Amino acid sequence: MTLLDRIKTTGLLFDGAIGTELQRKGLPFGTPPDLWNLENPDAVREMHAAYVDAGSDVVVTNTFNANPVRFAEYKSDQSWEAVTRRGVELAKQAVSGRALVAGEIGPSGLLLEPVGPGKPADIERSFAAQAKLIEDEGVDLFIAETFFSLQEILLVARAFRSVSPRPFILSMTFEKKRRGYFTIMGDRIDRALQALADTGAIAVGANCTLGSADMIELAAQARQAVSIPMIIQPNAGQPQVTPEGTIYNEDPESFAANIARIRELGVEIVGGCCGTQPATIGAIRARWT
Ligand SMILES: [Zn+2]
Repeated sequence: MTLLDRIKTTGLLFDGAIGTELQRKGLPFGTPPDLWNLENPDAVREMHAAYVDAGSDVVVTNTFNANPVRFAEYKSDQSWEAVTRRGVELAKQAVSGRALVAGEIGPSGLLLEPVGPGKPADIERSFAAQAKLIEDEGVDLFIAETFFSLQEILLVARAFRSVSPRPFILSMTFEKKRRGYFTIMGDRIDRALQALADTGAIAVGANCTLGSADMIELAAQARQAVSIPMIIQPNAGQPQVTPEGTIYNEDPESFAANIARIRELGVEIVGGCCGTQPATIGAIRARWT
């Protein structure tokens, strides 16, 4: 069965959060999780394995911050190449054939010209360089998530297509405004998702920012906008800032109940973003039909 057939017949369950999950294991707040690929590989492997044990069909590599442009901001002794290679390797080791591995690329961290200093050609080259490394290490598919700039995520789509024949998923983050759901750059959800679908992505959708209850309404509107498979990955509620850092409190059961409603709307691919844990994925899997 092809991946597309599988998405359309059984759907796909992705994993939960990486950043907040590694923070639960001791990653200091503010430290890019990707650095643990080299500094604490056991924790990264354990996290991936726990998601597969909980029922994830797909795990995402811990490489969100390791595109060359973004990674340069961290002034780390590590190289983005080593972090990216090791990220793919750890996911594959942890999964060992029990689930698919999706190579993850996140935003560059720069606003694009003319709003900011990011030159589109440089940013696209950065994405393509990371995607090529991921492709060479070997993954089943690619995913770009949590983008708030339509212009920028379209560069990732071009980068994916330039280095790999593999399927790719594109997911942006939206805020609820009075007149509907928009990116913070002001793109309306229906127009954004249509543009993503036009890239040849196997699925498009939304992640982060909103909790699972808010994502039900978003999913209903988004489902009207595109006919290709959709992915929805909410946060575990709204963040609460505490002295120990930012925490998310939505319990796995209510999250899973809302995910079931999102799937009933015709969303084929689901998972969790910030604050979700293996227990969240387990609760979703327990309701899977
Ligand atoms: Zn998130």
